[in-house]
Amino acid sequence: MPLIIITGLPTSGKTTRARQLHAYLSSRIASSSSSTSQSSQPNNTQPSYRLHLISDTTLSIPRTVYDLSPSQLPAHVRSANASEKDARAAAYAAVKRVLSPRDIVILDGLNYIKGWRYQLFCEAKNVRTGSCVLQIGARGERARGVNEARLERRRRRLEGDGGADGDGDMRGRGGVADGGNDEQEGGNNGHQGKVSQEGATQEQTDDDDDEPYEPANWDNLVFRYEEPNPMTRWDSPLFTLIWDDDETQTRAVFDQIWDAIAGEGRKAVKPNQ
Ligand code: ADP
Ligand code: MG
Repeated sequence: MPLIIITGLPTSGKTTRARQLHAYLSSRIASSSSSTSQSSQPNNTQPSYRLHLISDTTLSIPRTVYDLSPSQLPAHVRSANASEKDARAAAYAAVKRVLSPRDIVILDGLNYIKGWRYQLFCEAKNVRTGSCVLQIGARGERARGVNEARLERRRRRLEGDGGADGDGDMRGRGGVADGGNDEQEGGNNGHQGKVSQEGATQEQTDDDDDEPYEPANWDNLVFRYEEPNPMTRWDSPLFTLIWDDDETQTRAVFDQIWDAIAGEGRKAVKPNQ
């Protein structure tokens, strides 16, 4: 399933998990290719993968493309629906450019429209590979709190009296985390998206990942969110991580994803399925 579609509410922790998954897959790829090269069997057919992380940030897509209220848009931005369509076209092209049975693509984004996930599923089949969905679950109020903290930080930055501490929404801001979860922005378990190992490319940049959504835009995106349904072909297999999932549970889910991509769980994709 080399296309991994991340989905979830705005500010629910998608990018955090996408980076952890990127780090995890990088090391699995590195260790599977080193065990292949050490193998005494000359025609060991263990595949070696390349890894790509694509997100709104890597594509320079601003949060405003999702904003349906024209009054919120800067004059030069096209009507929201049109700009969101353009954004999807850019994401589609970026996925299409690299996806293959040997290229694992993590698509970090809202991916909240089921028709869009269907389109991605079809694209994966077109290139004779598969897709899966990783849903990031967070209570709405928690995700909203993260956005509010980001709005507050931006407001302080614009006013010129803040920003010096700006390495985490969760740090010392109260009201967002229920305590004890402040490690994430710095990279949970040390898994920030900075891993650069053989077989993996890191296309992610830190810029703009922590830009807030305007409050009405955030509410609207939650309202429009179309939950993945594992009974449909395009949303399966469906994996889930929630905010409170610890390192052990996260690793268990990542192991299942690796198994679906590269292990026993890997299915040959039939073109007419
Ligand atoms: P999204 O990509 O969905 O907008 P992010 O991954 O950028 O969300 O996360 C938003 C904020 O929430 C970040 O500051 C991050 O540190 C924090 N965060 C995300 N997931 C968790 C988690 N599982 N536990 C604690 N904090 C988290
Ligand atoms: Mg994000």
